[in-house]
Amino acid sequence: MREALKEAKKAYSTYEVPVGAIVVHRGEIISRGYNKRESMKDPLAHAEIIAIKRASELLGGWRLIDCTMYVTLEPCAMCAGAIINSRIDRVVIGTRDPKRGCCGSVIDLLNHPKFNHRPKVDFGILEEECSSILSTFFKELRNSNP
Ligand SMILES: [Zn+2]
Repeated sequence: MREALKEAKKAYSTYEVPVGAIVVHRGEIISRGYNKRESMKDPLAHAEIIAIKRASELLGGWRLIDCTMYVTLEPCAMCAGAIINSRIDRVVIGTRDPKRGCCGSVIDLLNHPKFNHRPKVDFGILEEECSSILSTFFKELRNSNP
């Protein structure tokens, strides 16, 4: 999760909402991503999507078997869908997103009984750091736009 936080800090330094994700395959970090929605002008450019695309390129297939994603913020509906579609085994989440989180906060897509793939989900790893980088970012944003 420390590595995912490093990615979130990259987003922060480019004025993006600070969310970071990494994909670990058999103990090795194979891809990284951070939110680039503003810089890429792309509503799909979430940290998780970027990390999943890179991991698939590296592994040479769409199935991310034996992969764990570490992500600083609870994935949204789109990213939870991408996690299911890429067959990631396990997702480790820093902090919850009560407004958009689709791993239990708004809805629980990753543990839906009707989906054929249900990754293992763990919450609250480095929660304080993952949460505070977001609250600091939004506080600064509010202060710069009076
Ligand atoms: Zn997302």
